Parts: sequence; structure tokens; C-alpha cells
Amino acid sequence: MGKLVIVGTIAFDAIETPFGKTDKILGGAATFIGLSASTFEVDATAVSIVGDDFPQAYLDLLSNRNINLDGVEIVKGGKTFFWSGRYHNDMNSRDTLVTELNTLANFNPVVPENYKDAEVVMLGNLHPLVQASVLDQMTTKPKLVILDTMNFWMDSALEDLHNTIKRVDVITINDEEARQLTGEYSLVVAARKIHDMGPKYVVIKKGEHGALLFHNDEVFYAPALPLEEVFDPTGAGDTFAGGFAGYIAKTGDTSFENMKKAVIYGSTLASFCVEKFGTERMLNLSSAEIHKRLLQFKELTQFEIELQ
Ligand code: AMP
Repeated sequence: MGKLVIVGTIAFDAIETPFGKTDKILGGAATFIGLSASTFEVDATAVSIVGDDFPQAYLDLLSNRNINLDGVEIVKGGKTFFWSGRYHNDMNSRDTLVTELNTLANFNPVVPENYKDAEVVMLGNLHPLVQASVLDQMTTKPKLVILDTMNFWMDSALEDLHNTIKRVDVITINDEEARQLTGEYSLVVAARKIHDMGPKYVVIKKGEHGALLFHNDEVFYAPALPLEEVFDPTGAGDTFAGGFAGYIAKTGDTSFENMKKAVIYGSTLASFCVEKFGTERMLNLSSAEIHKRLLQFKELTQFEIELQ
């Protein structure tokens, strides 16, 4: 079983969409990544921090899915990271209403001893110095390091972000963020510029328009499954990343061909995440449902054409 280190937030989220609104519910990048990656047979650990206001029942939801929590620090008297967002009517864009770092402001990640030789490291969206610190702790060079980030860190820690990006193999980023990071409108040109920053593979996520995987001059495109119900896109990007990382950790194959499959798994898992608020759908997902949706994906994208 491949070992996977996941670093990211374990959080409270409060979400508003055109369909409804939640109070503080379970969220965070590491949560979504972990739930998605744990649909594969992998030995995953989550490295994160919460306050003692965080319900044990939420942590149990993760450990019940075989996600090791030895690297989750619980700060006595501390408050858990809180994020709140409101989606626009198109559900593809959102405004952040609140980001309260709380315990995250003093987060020194500690990778459990037993995972310092993990094959795959998934650096979830966090301060780039925290992401770098996780890499510094690995005693064996991982086969693949994947980094996810967002505009928040481009605005507040750009130089550190560049230094961390240099050290990773794959970056997953959404289209607007790729444009912000490179100053290029064309995503093809943006991907090339990101290659030049370090990562050999660049995944650009385009929400309901799917995801692009770039490797030098090769490009692969996976659409998003057209869904009847998109209820809450929160965590879709992290769920995609978790599926991608989980599949690579399970197979141990970092070839471009296998990464294409990882993109398909990531897209499939993300298509479930958006169907309910927060983590609800990911917590009630069977392997039969995943299999059925992979078949739908295949049908959606395959065609035969006779060319003269
Ligand atoms: P996504 O929809 O995939 O971009 O991820 C949403 C998740 O990211 C939410 O569950 C939030 O708790 C978490 N999140 C939001 N802002 C930040 C931030 N600045 N740093 C780390 N995690 C964040």
C-alpha cells in the first residue's frame, strides 16, 4: 500500500449557495483531500492543526476512513481555522466572506516518523512556508510531490510561493489563479510559464469545464461530468487533488499516461463532492457508485470517427 502525506486545513466552513446556507460544518482542504484519497487503498496521514473547539466526532469521521491523524495537533484553548464563502448564481465563482486563521497562524507541521518515507506528498492549499517545511521533513525523496494553492497566498506570500513551487513535480491550480500567477490570459502560455517555475506537470482546473494536464508540449483534457445537480462546489478542487494523489499513491506509477488516469479519477470524485453541502456526499459514497460514474465518464469522452 502506497504511503501518502497530506498537509492542509481541517476546518469549519460556513457556506452560502443559491440553494441554501449552512452553519459551521466540517471542511478544510486536508479533509476533502483525505476523504477523496481514502477511496483508494492507500496508507494516508493528514498533517494539520485544530483547536479544542473541534468535535471529536469530525476527527472520527476521518480516522474511520483509515486516515492516520498522528500529525493533527489539537491546541488547548485554541480555535479552529474558519472559512466562509458565498457562491454566485453561476456556481463557478464565489466570494470569500471570512478567513479566520486562528490556530493556523502558528502552525508548525510535524510529519509522523512513520510517514517520512512516503512515496507521494500532497501539499494542500496553505502558507507556502508550511508546505516547504513538510518537504524538509521527508527523509527519502518522494516519488511525486503535488502542490495546490490559491490566490490568497499569491496576494500575501508570493516570493515564498515561488520558492516552494520550484520544489514540486505537479501543481494543481484553477484557471483564474494560473492567470494571476503568470499574468497570461492563455492557459497554454500560462502552463508553459508555470513549467518554467519548476513543476514538470501542470494541472489547470476549470470548474464545470473540466481540467487540463500539461507536460511539456503534451496536453490532456478531461471534461467535468455534466451534472443535473450542482449544490455546493466547496472542496471540489481539493477532492480532485485527493483523487489524483490517491490514485498515484496506490499505483506508484508517475508516468504521464498514468497521470491522465489520475485526472479522470480526480474529476470523477469531484463530481460527487459538489452534489451535497460540504463533505456530506463524500461521506456517503460507495465504490459501486464510483465505478458507475467512471463508466459514464468513459462514454462521455469516447467516440469513433472514420477519417479518410
Ligand atoms: P476548494 O473549494 O477546493 O477551493 O476548497 C475549499 C476549502 O478550502 C474549504 O473547506 C476551506 O476550509 C479551505 N480554505 C479556504 N481558504 C483557505 C486558505 N486561505 N488556506 C487554506 N485553506 C483554505
